Amino acid sequence: MDERTLVLVKPDGVQRGLVGEVIARIERKGLRLVSLELKAVDRGLAEQHYAEHEGKGFYEELLSFITSAPVAAMVVEGPRAVAAFRQIAGGTDPVEKAVPGSIRGDLALETGSNIVHGSDSPESAEREIKLWFG
Ligand code: GDP
Ligand code: MG
Repeated sequence: MDERTLVLVKPDGVQRGLVGEVIARIERKGLRLVSLELKAVDRGLAEQHYAEHEGKGFYEELLSFITSAPVAAMVVEGPRAVAAFRQIAGGTDPVEKAVPGSIRGDLALETGSNIVHGSDSPESAEREIKLWFG
């Protein structure tokens, strides 16, 4: 059965004009875009979105980055959508982990600005879609 995942094009991706590129890759994979909105992110939303990372060394940097400029938030649907988007996004570190052919592997250099977010499980997806789209 089809599944849904939350995808964000983070501030670096929006500022670099990569929203269309990310959407094209999602669509080419065969996934469907079901909601799309450009959103300003306040501290409260950022804290809830990244709650699992509270206390880590990069947490404050992560929050200030994600709140620095608008993000393109989308709900993406399809068979195994969570894992499928994580596959096309590539690993978190764009150089050490993301393979060529993935969004991060092709388009990013730094872990702190790796262009996209994708939910990491169906449970996270459900929580994050509620958080971003109500
Ligand atoms: P993701 O699920 O692949 O996005 O990775 P995580 O959930 O582990 O981390 C969330 C985001 O925090 C990542 O996409 C990175 O942008 C950032 N991040 C994770 N680890 C680090 C790190 O060690 N240093 C920095 N600067 N950012 C990090
Ligand atoms: Mg994550």
